[in-house]
Amino acid sequence: MDEVVKGLVRDENVLVTATICTNTVEEARKIHDTWPTATAAMGRLIAGSVLLASTLKDKQRIMLQVRGDGPLQEIVAEADFLYRVRAYVRRPHIYMGLKGDKIDVGRAVGKGFLNVIRDLGLREFYQSSVSLQTGEIATDIAYYLNVSEQIPSAISLGVFVEPDNMVKAAGGFMIQTLPQTREEIVSYLERKLADVESASSMIRRGLRASEMLEEVVGLPVDIIQISEVTYSCPCTKDRVFNAIVTLGREEIKSMIEEGKTIDVECYFCKKKYEVTVSELKNLLQII
Ligand SMILES: [Zn+2]
Repeated sequence: MDEVVKGLVRDENVLVTATICTNTVEEARKIHDTWPTATAAMGRLIAGSVLLASTLKDKQRIMLQVRGDGPLQEIVAEADFLYRVRAYVRRPHIYMGLKGDKIDVGRAVGKGFLNVIRDLGLREFYQSSVSLQTGEIATDIAYYLNVSEQIPSAISLGVFVEPDNMVKAAGGFMIQTLPQTREEIVSYLERKLADVESASSMIRRGLRASEMLEEVVGLPVDIIQISEVTYSCPCTKDRVFNAIVTLGREEIKSMIEEGKTIDVECYFCKKKYEVTVSELKNLLQII
């Protein structure tokens, strides 16, 4: 089971969160038929969205969008307050070889922006954008948290892909200090995190998310919450209709004139929807 675990370092004001989301990333890989570099980039963004979703309240949702000038072009991952995740990558067939022993995600992403959109419910959105620091995803999300949200945060994200392209391990962890965190603990954690084992390697060793947290901070952790993470797309035909409505009356009229049933495919789950001419005519009546 994929999971996300939230906890506090015992007797200290340090918030720690870890996720193991190997199955979710493998599901995304199968849906999008991604090659290893695209799998790693999308998988890291999925793990990052799960970690950030741990800060959401009831009914809220978070969307991370990476736009770069590298070959991947765009990667999106969304997670809601129940850790239901969906993702896509604009160019899935990208493999760029290794950098050292790691997949070279930074070069595949390139220079650009990380946009973070929080859906606070009731049609209220909060959007924030930062420049990509390395394109390696974890450092970019940490930079967003430090700069935009002003929460001192360290993040590690990792995806390990087998030679047959399958995802063997995916996940990550996030360590956040609070204004009242003791200075000694902050410098202890900085030293501890400087040469910490990678998340994907700990997951491959078979550690659970809670064990990963204790290993990372080297201190006992009190667990606040354990939740399941799943790949799930909430798309429906009504949402397809809503998307068509945004195209405007003229565009819908010209689609009707063509007289053909329209095939629409969901970006996130590849589910196909057929929209008939009479359905288009109905849409035209209501806008
Ligand atoms: Zn869908």
